[in-house]
Amino acid sequence: MSEAPKALSDDDIVVENNNKALKFIEDVTVNADEVQKRVLSEILTRSADAEYLQRNGLNGCTDRETFKKVMPVITYEDLKPDIERIANGDTSPILCSQPISEFLTSSGTSGGERKLMPTIDDELERRSLLYSLLMPVMSQFVPGLDKGKGMYFLFVKSEAKTPSGLVSRPVLTSYYKSSYFKDRPNDPYTNYTSPNETILCLDSYQSMYSQLLCGIYQNREVVRVGAIFASGFIRAIQFLEKHWSLLCRDIRTGTIDSKITDPTVREAVSKFLKPNPKLADFVEAECTKGSWKGIITRLWPNSKYIDVIVTGTMSQYIPALDYYSDALPLVCTMYGSSECYFGINLEPLCSPSEVSYTLIPTMAYFEFLPVSRKNELTGSVSESTALNDEEKKKLVDLVDVELGREYELVVTTYAGLYRYRVGDILRVPGFKNNAPQFNFICRKNVVLSIDSDKTDEVELQNAVTNAANQLMQFEASLVEYTSYADTSASPGHYVLYWEISVKDATLIPPSVFEDCCFTVEESLNSVYRQGRVSDKSIGPLEIRVVENGTFDLLMDFALTQGASVNQYKTPRCVKYAPIIELMNSRVVSSYFSPKCPRWNPGHRQWCTQN
Ligand code: AMP
Repeated sequence: MSEAPKALSDDDIVVENNNKALKFIEDVTVNADEVQKRVLSEILTRSADAEYLQRNGLNGCTDRETFKKVMPVITYEDLKPDIERIANGDTSPILCSQPISEFLTSSGTSGGERKLMPTIDDELERRSLLYSLLMPVMSQFVPGLDKGKGMYFLFVKSEAKTPSGLVSRPVLTSYYKSSYFKDRPNDPYTNYTSPNETILCLDSYQSMYSQLLCGIYQNREVVRVGAIFASGFIRAIQFLEKHWSLLCRDIRTGTIDSKITDPTVREAVSKFLKPNPKLADFVEAECTKGSWKGIITRLWPNSKYIDVIVTGTMSQYIPALDYYSDALPLVCTMYGSSECYFGINLEPLCSPSEVSYTLIPTMAYFEFLPVSRKNELTGSVSESTALNDEEKKKLVDLVDVELGREYELVVTTYAGLYRYRVGDILRVPGFKNNAPQFNFICRKNVVLSIDSDKTDEVELQNAVTNAANQLMQFEASLVEYTSYADTSASPGHYVLYWEISVKDATLIPPSVFEDCCFTVEESLNSVYRQGRVSDKSIGPLEIRVVENGTFDLLMDFALTQGASVNQYKTPRCVKYAPIIELMNSRVVSSYFSPKCPRWNPGHRQWCTQN
């Protein structure tokens, strides 16, 4: 008689699931090109009747050659009329045969408003699949992660409705509110210290407070900590710095502060909150030691790494994270966007400067446009312009990118984007099997970023012009300007260095410069204003007036670094420490924006229509 099969233990199940995920990664990276071919054909077959494909003459073809020949390579501006039709209630298959389920609001902007990315129900499954690969990869390098909890600070943001009633919200808000997250099955890898209710609470103070309370309460169980972006994690630590005594009081007495009024949050937290004076004493002792160096490892002694994105502009937060954590490994696990999720880091313990993401070939059809950097000092990349037929031919497929080269990412998604320029610049440092890996280099044109805001040169120029008009009444004018994202204090803020030509500087009252700061803020895009008003992740904008001749010195400096006199243009953003020192050494006065700019959830045009 054969033996009855033995029931698998929890450990066996974890190992089996990990192996399945790793095998999937192996298969799709070995067969990257075939998978990409299949993905494109699947997308085009499913949406064969979509108006956009017919309009461009694809005529039901699903092969790469015809697709590349007839389909234009586009940016958001090209799609805007179609997106607006969908937002206004046209339910015909415009971009995609499947119904658009909602819009994901990107942190990229168009005309000062967040871009609206169409999405379909299926995409949630694709995103979940990518998430499900992260911990199996991580577990190859760090054992025991299934034996404890993750303390992740996760947040939702407000949502709006299009005139036709489609929800528009950020991709993570959409994910956390979906059943994929809320009703996730019991899994040691998605066992978080924050109850769902604390994550889903829209009030950022209550959400942060309750997540920290739960995280501290379970401090011994925590084996990894994190947030999405480094800026969010730093914000949590600084919140703790401000509110630890209230949190300690709650832990001591097993109560929840009266400022936490959301009944669902109160109920979820009170389920496991018992008076714990010993823990409260411990936390209080650590928080009053004077220095906050290493506070993360002190309060959460079993944490093995910090899971946050520190690539791209987020690298500015690495020193602060190292300080607070006594240099725990910083782990960047994935790379994605509202358009679609792209890839994962297969060497998660590498140093932040070496992080590369392997694009998962099942997520979308990927193409790459070779780029060259216009200005090595500022790192700027040339503007997006429509591609002519010759330029279109330069796009290469995933498996054809060359080692060491830089490319702009172009995607074709299941949700109706075809040959869409994402705006990210990537470099190829190596391959996993046949699938290339990519360093994230920068977002095209972005000059300033503190949190998820991305301000480009044109937006900054317009905002500065609007503000500088106010100097005219004092017979003064702006000679030159540049900018800097100052993250030395929290929250970080934008700094503008202004050189002014004026007959008598004493005639300009400080309130005029403060008004200028405010006007710049009012003129910046809605993601910036949301950061100022709702998320409080960006501090008041500052104008530092510099002595006359400062920008000549800046040019001299650039020339010593190899810039050419004929081609020199004032950089509109500075990052290099010696340049910032030079600018700061010439500051004669500085002013801050006195109040928050206006911001409302939803697009400006919808607000005025309602
Ligand atoms: P959003 O559409 O608002 O979700 O923003 C997506 C953008 O955020 C991407 O196109 C990138 O520019 C940036 N981003 C996302 N993940 C990463 C990452 N791991 N490293 C650097 N930048 C990232």
